Amino acid sequence: GSSGRPTVIARKKPIVVIVIGMAGSGKTTLMHRLVAHVQTARKRGYVLNLDPAVTSLPYTANIDIRDTVNYKNVMKEYHLGPNGGILTSLNLFATKFDEVVNLVERREGELDYVLVDTPGQIEIFTWSASGSIITEAFASTFPTVVCYVVDTPRSLSPVTFMSNMLYACGILYKTRLPLLLAFNKVDVAQHQFALEWMDDFEAFQAAVENDSSYSSGLSRSLCLVLDEFYRNLRNVGVSAVTGVGMVDFFAKLDESGTEYMQTY
Ligand code: GDP
Ligand code: MG
Repeated sequence: GSSGRPTVIARKKPIVVIVIGMAGSGKTTLMHRLVAHVQTARKRGYVLNLDPAVTSLPYTANIDIRDTVNYKNVMKEYHLGPNGGILTSLNLFATKFDEVVNLVERREGELDYVLVDTPGQIEIFTWSASGSIITEAFASTFPTVVCYVVDTPRSLSPVTFMSNMLYACGILYKTRLPLLLAFNKVDVAQHQFALEWMDDFEAFQAAVENDSSYSSGLSRSLCLVLDEFYRNLRNVGVSAVTGVGMVDFFAKLDESGTEYMQTY
C-alpha cells in the first residue's frame, strides 16, 4: 500500500464439515442437500466422498475415494470381508491425505465450505486410525466441525436416544472439535422431544426409567453426563429429503466454525 507496509489481505479459511452418523442416518442424502444449499446461497463448496463402498452418489464430489481405491479389489487382494475391505481402503487413502489437504489449501481463498461424507458404518471412521488421521489433518489446517447426524425417528425411545447421544459424546471427547447435532428426518418425526430431553435431564431420566424399568444410579449418572455434553454443542432439526432446516444448519455451522477459531 501507499504507507509502504506490505498489504496484508486476511483470507478467510473455509470451514470443514465432517459428516458422521450411524448407518442409514442420512449422511449422504444430507450431503446432497448441503451441496445444493451452498450452490443456491452462492457460496463456494468443495466436496469429498470418503465412502469407498457407496454405489451411487446423489451429489458431485470434487474428490472421491472411489477414484483412488476400488474396495472390491482391496477385498480380493487382502482376502477381506466387506467391512475389512472398506476399512483397508480408507487406510490406503489416509496415507495420501496430506495431498488432499494440500489440494484444498491451494484453493482455500476461493472456498467457503469443505463438505466431507464418511463411510456408511460409523465405526469405520470413528474407530480407526485413518479416521483420526483424516480428522487431524483437516483440524490442524482449517476450522473443522463434526456434524453428527441423528436418525430422529429411530431415536424416539429414551434408551436408544441415550445410547446415540453417548456415542456422539464419545466423538466429541475423542476429536475435541466443535460438534453440531443434526436431527435428520424431521419430515418423519419432529425432534421436539429431543429438545425437551436435552433441556431437562430430570424429565429425560424419568423417561429412561419408565422405558427400561432400569432405575439405577447409572441412569442418573449418564443423564448428568449428557447434560454436561449438551452444553458443549449446537443442534438443528433438518430433513435431508425435504430440505427443511438448511438455513439454520449453516447458521449453526458458522457459529461452530467461530467456536473453533476462538478455541484453537
Ligand atoms: P447414510 O448411510 O448415513 O449415508 O444414509 P443415506 O443418506 O444413504 O440414507 C439412508 C436412507 O434414509 C435412505 O433411504 C434415504 O432416502 C433416507 N433418508 C435420508 N434422509 C432422510 C430424511 O430427511 N427424511 C426421510 N424421510 N428419509 C431420509
Ligand atoms: Mg452414505
